[in-house]
Amino acid sequence: DAVVYWMRMQDMRIHDNRALSQASEYARLHSLSLIVLFILSPQDYIAHDRSARRIDFTLRNLMQIKNSLAKLDIPLHVITHSPRKTLPERVTTTLSDWNASRLFANVEHEVDELRRDLRVYELAQRTGKAECTFVNGKCILPPGTVLTKDGRGYTVYSPFLRSWIPHLTDTPDPLACAPDVESNDATVRQHPIFGQLFNSAIPEYMEGYELSKEDAEIMCVCWPAGEAAAQEILLRFLHTKARPAQFGAADPLSPGASEPKSGPKDSRLGKYGDARDRVDADTTSRLSPYLAAGVISARECVRATRALSEGKHSKVDVSRDTGVGRWVQELAWRDFYTHVLALFPRVSMGRPFQEKFANVSWETNESHLQAWKDGRTGVPIVDAGMRQMNKMGWMHNRLRMVTAMYLVKDLMIDWRLGEKYFMETLIDGDLASNNGGWQWSASTGVDPVPYFRIFNPYLQSKKADPSGDYIRYFVPELAKVFGDEIHNPPPRCAEKLGYPTPLVKHDEARQRAIKRYKNPGDV
Ligand code: FAD
Repeated sequence: DAVVYWMRMQDMRIHDNRALSQASEYARLHSLSLIVLFILSPQDYIAHDRSARRIDFTLRNLMQIKNSLAKLDIPLHVITHSPRKTLPERVTTTLSDWNASRLFANVEHEVDELRRDLRVYELAQRTGKAECTFVNGKCILPPGTVLTKDGRGYTVYSPFLRSWIPHLTDTPDPLACAPDVESNDATVRQHPIFGQLFNSAIPEYMEGYELSKEDAEIMCVCWPAGEAAAQEILLRFLHTKARPAQFGAADPLSPGASEPKSGPKDSRLGKYGDARDRVDADTTSRLSPYLAAGVISARECVRATRALSEGKHSKVDVSRDTGVGRWVQELAWRDFYTHVLALFPRVSMGRPFQEKFANVSWETNESHLQAWKDGRTGVPIVDAGMRQMNKMGWMHNRLRMVTAMYLVKDLMIDWRLGEKYFMETLIDGDLASNNGGWQWSASTGVDPVPYFRIFNPYLQSKKADPSGDYIRYFVPELAKVFGDEIHNPPPRCAEKLGYPTPLVKHDEARQRAIKRYKNPGDV
C-alpha cells in the first residue's frame, strides 16, 4: 500500500514542502510507502504559454529531486500525459495501480488546475479508493486567510499588506518537515513495483521545447537547478554586496562564485530599500525563477530574514522601508497577486479586472509588436530590457514595468500580447505575478497605475541606469555613446550606429493613450 505526493511544477522542493511533509508523516504513521509522482502535461504547457526555458528548468530540477529522493529510498515516478482533459483519470488509475490510499498535493490556484484537482477528488471519492488532501504550498499566507472586514478579498495592495503583516508576525511559522530516511523502509527498493518506479526516466527535453545549445548553456550558468543552488542565491543576497554592471552570461549567478561577505547594512538585502530600482547592478535577489518553480519556499525566505534580525528585534518590521522590510513587502506582492488570482479567477481568463477598460481600442501593428519583442524600438532602455529578457529569461522588475507600459501606452498594443510574450520568454513565468504586473502597467488590474500616469521611458532610463552601463551592455550598437545621449540618442548618431529611430514620439503617444482610455471604444 502506498501514499502518493503529487509534485507539480510550482513546488519542486523537498524542504518546507507542506504536501510532501504531510504525505511523509502519514506514510510513517501508517507504515505505508511513499511515492512521489510528477506528471509532464504538454497540453497544459501550451495552454499556459509556458516557455521552453521554464520547461527545461523543470526537467533540470526534477533530476536533482530524483537524486535527493533516492537517498531517502523514495521513488520519483515521472509520466508524460496528453491530452490534458483525461489527466484526472490517469491520476486515479495510477493511484489504483499502486494501491494508494492517500494522495497529497499543494494547491495550484489557476482555474484549469483547480478544476482538474476537483475532478481528481471526485473520481477518487467515487471509487472510494483514495482520499485526497490539497494544501497551501505556494503563498506565505493561504488565499482566503487575508480578507477585508466584510470577508472579501482585497483589491488594493496597501490595506492587504496592513492586514497581511500581523498574520505574518503573530503566527508562528513551523517549518514543514522534510521526509527523512525513515520515510520509506529500504525494503521498498526490492518490491517489484517500486523497483520499476525507481528506474522511471526523466526526459532530457520535451518535444517542441528544446533549447538551442547556446540558450541551454546560458540557462544552466545563470539559473543552476536545485534547492542547494536556491539556498546559495538566497545567502548571496542576504550577505554579499551588489556587483555593478555585470550582466547576462558574463555574470554567472553561480552559487559557487565566492564573493566576500559584507556587513548587514552593505549587503544586497541591507541596501535593497534604496537600491532595488537600479538596473545597473545586481541589486535584487534574482530568486524569482526558484520561487516560481517552488525550488525555495517564500516562507523560507521570510524565515531567513527573520533569523538575521534575531536578537535585535523579535519581529521583522515589515512596515518600515528598510532593506528587510521592503524585501518582505515584495514577497507580499507575490502573495497579493496569487490571492487575487484565486479570489477573482476572471483575471486569468484574459479579462481585465476593471471591466470598464475591456473595450479600449488597440493598435494592430505586427511590425511594432515584433520590434518590441526584438528590442528594436529605438528607445534604449526598453530595448536593453527586452534584450536582457530574450537572452537571460529574466528582467529586472522596474524594466518589466517600463517595457510593459511602453507596449501598452506608447505603442497602444493590447497588453495580453505582451503578457503572452513574457510567459513564453521568462524562466520565472508565473501566471499570477505576470498577469498582475501586466494589468498594473495597462491600468486595467487591481490597484493599477492610473491610466493617465504614463512612464516617460527616457526619464525612467536616467533614474534606473544613470551611467548607461546597463544599456551599453545589452545594446552593443550604443557601446560608444556616452553622457545623457545614451538614454535618447540623436537620430543622426543612431542612424550612423545602425540603431533604429524611435517607433513613435512619446508625447504624442501619451496623448493618444489618455484619449483612448478616457473614452474606451473610441479610436
Ligand atoms: P526581488 O526584488 O528580490 O523580490 C523577491 C521576490 O518577491 C521575487 O523573486 C518575486 O517572487 C517577488 N516579487 C517581487 N516583486 C514582485 C511583484 N511586483 N509582483 C509579484 N511578485 C514580486 N514575477 C514573477 O515571479 N513571474 C512573472 O512572470 C512576473 N512577471 C511580471 C510582469 C510584469 C509586467 C511585471 C511588472 C512584473 C512581473 N513580475 C513577475 C514581478 C517582478 O518583476 C519579479 O518577481 C522580479 O523582478 C524578480 O526579481 P527578483 O527575484 O530579483 O526580485
